[in-house]
Amino acid sequence: MDARSSAGEPRVLISREALLNNARVLRQAVGPKVSVCAVIKADAYGHSARIVADTLCNYILDEWGTPAVNSLAVATIDEALALPEPSLPVMVLRPVENCFLGRQRQQIELAIRNGWILTVCSGAAADDIARIAMQMNARAYVQVMVDTGMSRSGVPEGQFDELASRIERQVSLRLFGFATHFACSEEEQDPFTQEQLDRFLAATDPATATLKEKGINIVRHCANSGAVFCWPQTHLDLVRPGLALYGIDPGGRYDPGLPLQPVMKWTANILLIRDVRQGTGVGYGQTWHAPYDTRLGLVPVGYADGYLRSLSNKVVMMVHGKPAPVVGRVSMDMTMIDLKHIPEAMPGDEVTIMDDIPDSPASVYELAKQADTIPYEILCGIGDRVHRIAVGEPVLQEVGIEGSDPS
Ligand SMILES: *Cc1c(COP(=O)(O)O)cnc(C)c1O
Repeated sequence: MDARSSAGEPRVLISREALLNNARVLRQAVGPKVSVCAVIKADAYGHSARIVADTLCNYILDEWGTPAVNSLAVATIDEALALPEPSLPVMVLRPVENCFLGRQRQQIELAIRNGWILTVCSGAAADDIARIAMQMNARAYVQVMVDTGMSRSGVPEGQFDELASRIERQVSLRLFGFATHFACSEEEQDPFTQEQLDRFLAATDPATATLKEKGINIVRHCANSGAVFCWPQTHLDLVRPGLALYGIDPGGRYDPGLPLQPVMKWTANILLIRDVRQGTGVGYGQTWHAPYDTRLGLVPVGYADGYLRSLSNKVVMMVHGKPAPVVGRVSMDMTMIDLKHIPEAMPGDEVTIMDDIPDSPASVYELAKQADTIPYEILCGIGDRVHRIAVGEPVLQEVGIEGSDPS
């Protein structure tokens, strides 16, 4: 759906320009030798993986033809299959576990056929993929996820060497890289990131060196958005930013020093306006009573759209650039706002539910704070009923890729 035919409907506008700006900021942060893998799992954090992948694959960053990013990462093979024929390499982050459960085998075959990089953490999974690839007469790209302290997925450091050599011995597998994931990288002061990096390098240095002697170049990667900005020593060969690409500071607070631009703006239109007398109760549980005679606007968005019920009576929406408080409980499909101080508001006027201005009172930072969560969860939670619309033709800006170290 395009911008015009969706007018009047609740929608999120996805700025291609802001997305490419953020890709440029990330490129500058890592320098020319480090590859950038855009994390577009969970429908690109609610931004529409289709729009985001299209923008990143089909637009360039500058007049020298620099691609916006070098590769894409998704969580599952299904997510990769939903992309419109991505022209960049794709890595699947969720580790392959049991290839012979349910649809897994068919999925793995499709991934191998498409040349996607599969993540493995166990010898059994590696052997299974090798067998499937062998039967297809193909080679499967795999990477090894090492657990260096997250205690989630990943092969324990002590078993890494054995797994790496087991993969290398399989003729139907091609070893792409070694990876790990950080637990606290958005904290500049927390020494745990350095500890995880040290453990990762100690575990993977010997195998990386041995393979290099055989002419095999391993891509080592660990940096998520937080690490890209706070821990430059973690950039290694490739970085995997997600949140920063969408223009949100991984620290969860707007940092004016970081030139990221929020990519998403969530809007709807006021469905109707009603006059209410002082003392009138509003919504389920009558949690708000008008303290004065006022006008209430009905906004067609609710918790089924991911506008959390915990935001009730706590946040504002923007109307004509002014804050309109959410009053009463957010319900499944509707929310009321108080228009007392916006007399010019009319039915049909646009409401900004979540702003793309990072210091707006309706920013994702503010919504996350008031809902006692993080921007990630707010973005990923925006429901399917909300249309995703790409806006803004990117303009080329002259920015040196060699750029300075922003940290
Ligand atoms: C989600 C994810 C990322 C991206 O994290 P951000 O904090 O959004 O930058 C990177 N690596 C892995 C393995 C992930 O699961």
